[in-house]
Amino acid sequence: MTTSTCESCGSEETTLYRVHRRYITPQAWDTPGVDRILDEVESWCFACCTSYPNVFAEEPEQDTPRP
Ligand SMILES: [Zn+2]
Repeated sequence: MTTSTCESCGSEETTLYRVHRRYITPQAWDTPGVDRILDEVESWCFACCTSYPNVFAEEPEQDTPRP
């Protein structure tokens, strides 16, 4: 079984997800809110997909559970 490194946390995982990182900054009284999706595709592990904002770059394999 091969493992790959999560580009977000550096964890060695067997299953990584192709995602676009998303930056969300809530609006404050002195700053406008930011909701930005990067063009760059990164490989993230399950934990990062559920912990940080992201948008899937492609559908996971059919037998891969979606976070
Ligand atoms: Zn990770």
